[in-house]
Amino acid sequence: MKNDIVTLEITDVTPEGYGIGRLDGKVYFVADTVTGDICSCLVLKELKSHSFAKLIEIIKPSEHRITPNCTVCRQCGGCAYRHISYEYELELKRNTVKQAFARIAKLDIAVNPTVSDNPEHYRNKVQYPFAQNNGYATFGYYAKRSHRIVEHKSCPLQDKIFSDIAAYTAELADRLSLPAYDEESGKGVIRHAVMRKNRKNQILLCLVVAKKHRNLSLLAEALTAKFPAIIGVHINVNTRRDNVIFGDETYRLLGSETLTDMLCGKTFEISPRAFYQVNAVMAEKLYSHAASLAKRDCESAVILDLYCGAGTIGICVAGKEDKLCGVEIIDAAIENARTNALLNQRNEKNTLFVCGDASVGVEECRKKFGKPNIIIVDPPRKGLDKTVIETVVKASPERIVYISCDPATLARDCAVFAESGYFASEATPFDLFPRTGHVETVVCLSKEGEIHTMKLDRSPFEKIKSGQKTIELRLLDEKRRSIKEGDVIIFTDNSNGERLKATVKKLHRFESFEQLYKSLPLLKCGYTAEELGSAHHSDMEKYYSAEEQKKHGVIGIELFPPKRT
Ligand code: SAH
Repeated sequence: MKNDIVTLEITDVTPEGYGIGRLDGKVYFVADTVTGDICSCLVLKELKSHSFAKLIEIIKPSEHRITPNCTVCRQCGGCAYRHISYEYELELKRNTVKQAFARIAKLDIAVNPTVSDNPEHYRNKVQYPFAQNNGYATFGYYAKRSHRIVEHKSCPLQDKIFSDIAAYTAELADRLSLPAYDEESGKGVIRHAVMRKNRKNQILLCLVVAKKHRNLSLLAEALTAKFPAIIGVHINVNTRRDNVIFGDETYRLLGSETLTDMLCGKTFEISPRAFYQVNAVMAEKLYSHAASLAKRDCESAVILDLYCGAGTIGICVAGKEDKLCGVEIIDAAIENARTNALLNQRNEKNTLFVCGDASVGVEECRKKFGKPNIIIVDPPRKGLDKTVIETVVKASPERIVYISCDPATLARDCAVFAESGYFASEATPFDLFPRTGHVETVVCLSKEGEIHTMKLDRSPFEKIKSGQKTIELRLLDEKRRSIKEGDVIIFTDNSNGERLKATVKKLHRFESFEQLYKSLPLLKCGYTAEELGSAHHSDMEKYYSAEEQKKHGVIGIELFPPKRT
């Protein structure tokens, strides 16, 4: 009941940073707690399915708990995991992805450990909201689920120069009678300061204002005089009364038109309005992984990069001989992409960047280059529209590389792709946003294309041949690491060399045969009671040692009825 004090043991953490505790059949969400904490909490709100409680006292702290290195992280909405050790955060992120696939997609996909680097001061971009406080302009981050500004002097997610520039902007705003915008009254000028920094530490500043004002030039000049790192100042005019940051009009007030940065050895020009990954070190790892997944069966491929932003992924992934088509909704980003193709010596004949909705991508690509072999998609959090999935599937590419910033919509979309025969065998989380609850995930979907071979003794071969429901148990060694639902297996009868082909219907992964025997309903999967009567998981040790099982893991492969080869 509300206002009760309860003692909870925290058993998990949500991506929003709430610890989860269970008591008497009820689920409690408690901010600032972590798995393993035993704590006393005050019940704040009771809902039907769960309740919210506030941490009052930690009775026994978790081994994953650390002291946050930020004084305002409790109030600020930025870092859900600042009180949690980084190693455990990576585990939590891997788990978020695992749970999304299991619960939403009901697909059995191996989730690799979270790839990481660079957990502090990694952000190359900030978007500070401004507000008036007692007659003075201030800046900061919004508090959780509110538009109240939490002020700060520095932030461990990014370089201190960003907050120094914002602080000086606030000081100048006061001196130049450029008050911060007030959401309630709609009065005032400065709404946001958006800054982006490249690896050479050059900064492009875009001030979002409610209206144009002649003193903005003076502000820009004073800022660049004090901070030579600022190579350009742009103004974006946003007259709307909602909470979208940017308005429609952007113009350059002073200095450079774009910011130039390097990723994977390529050069990219980025406008203030174009999307650019906020963590360059990790973006390189992500793009390299995407490139390794986008392997093709031919010398020169047709690559379609949907949601391409400034063209970064496509330009990093495509070889000189490949045809590259990128599609993106923001005009300024497509202009950047076209320039970036030239900057990186891409042949114009092999390159096309189109401004439009992702759903027109396949058709635009087909008109110029023919059917795409490889399609890369990198949509915003809401994932792919049904029409985009339909056009992608219809194009029948060899591979679809899906880069996602939301595991839930990724899992939802993978389930739709699976209905059309596209499956992924593994997913890799990338920690592009350390200390926050966000995680990026990459999967590669392909059709039943991959073919595996397996030898069988006479009796299991006969069983598969007769089309009985059956399941093959194997070690998940290097040879079979890529096996996935929808793959084809060619079985050979050891005694006479006869061959038949069957398709993997479902794949069950376990850490050992002991666990497999315990967890899989083998009776339902095709084993008879008679066979199971005397069977014991230790029998499998004759074929695969306990060490091998531990090293690789094991699989149960359910099969669709076979075809003769
Ligand atoms: N692949 C790029 C950008 C990814 S972010 C990179 O790695 O840098 C997602 C991009 O999708 C943004 O640039 C956004 O402007 C674009 N976008 C959003 N909705 C879209 C739509 N309906 N059609 C095409 N692009 C869209």
